Amino acid sequence: MKNTKQLIDFNNYKPSDDLLSGRVILVTGAGDGIGRAAAMSYAHHGATVILLGRTVKKLEKLYDEILAAGGPRPSIVHMDLAKAQGEHYQALIDGLTDEFGRLDGLLHNAGILGDMTPIEHYDIATWQRVLHVNLTAVFVLTRSMMPLLKASADASVVMVSSGVGRRGRAYWGAYAVSKFGIEGLTQVLADETESHDNLRVNCLNPGATRTQMRYMVRPGEDRDKLKRPEEIMAPYVFLMGPDSRGVHGQSIDCQPSRG
Ligand code: NDP
Repeated sequence: MKNTKQLIDFNNYKPSDDLLSGRVILVTGAGDGIGRAAAMSYAHHGATVILLGRTVKKLEKLYDEILAAGGPRPSIVHMDLAKAQGEHYQALIDGLTDEFGRLDGLLHNAGILGDMTPIEHYDIATWQRVLHVNLTAVFVLTRSMMPLLKASADASVVMVSSGVGRRGRAYWGAYAVSKFGIEGLTQVLADETESHDNLRVNCLNPGATRTQMRYMVRPGEDRDKLKRPEEIMAPYVFLMGPDSRGVHGQSIDCQPSRG
């Protein structure tokens, strides 16, 4: 998988307001941070957004904000990816099949940090939870959504990685390893779907961004120096729309890498 920092000049990417009109896009971890900004952006550009998350109140607030901003009516999927079982995924498949018959975009944004601690002392249950939410659930959801994605005329799967998913760093533990897994999953799936003209699979590295997760990593950091989620949305929108047709198996940085 190539690292396409120079794929497009995102500073000058100005997508039209209706770029995603008519598309159905599922965003995991939509209630907060980068996922919330992505869901708002997709709705702003005309997509019907499926808001998946574990905290209903946050999803309901976002739902209201999307409608108040004039976006298409979204849907809420209350699902905890740490606990979801086969029947929960099946209910999601059934709901999307009945309502839309396809899925045009899948943003695997949800993630957890786990502990910042040496491997020697890493809590085993935490390790398993992080690997499950950040990697295994991404695999299960992707696998579940494949028939709906293949039913789309132009589908895009976007995984979310991290700088520590490309080069390991001390104390990032399960989080870093899970993101290496995401880079790998992107490559494997992209290779397997190479011949599907209507399906692209790519990976984004947001870089250091002003969210709760980043605050947990570096609580003392000057947050004003970090980009807000809304400021890194160009690649998120680009990959979901028709402008990224033919972009496949790429690992893209949203900003000069820091984290
Ligand atoms: P946040 O912690 O701010 O938000 C994470 C979102 O994921 C929340 O909405 C959270 O839900 C949701 N989530 C967590 N666990 C689950 C679960 N078990 N089931 C369903 N939803 C869940 O993180 P960011 O916005 O910062 O990160 C988004 C993505 O970007 C992550 O994949 C992260 O690894 C990646 N990233 C972030 C960077 C940064 O600097 N912020 C840098 C590099 C990568 P709830 O609101 O209920 O807690």
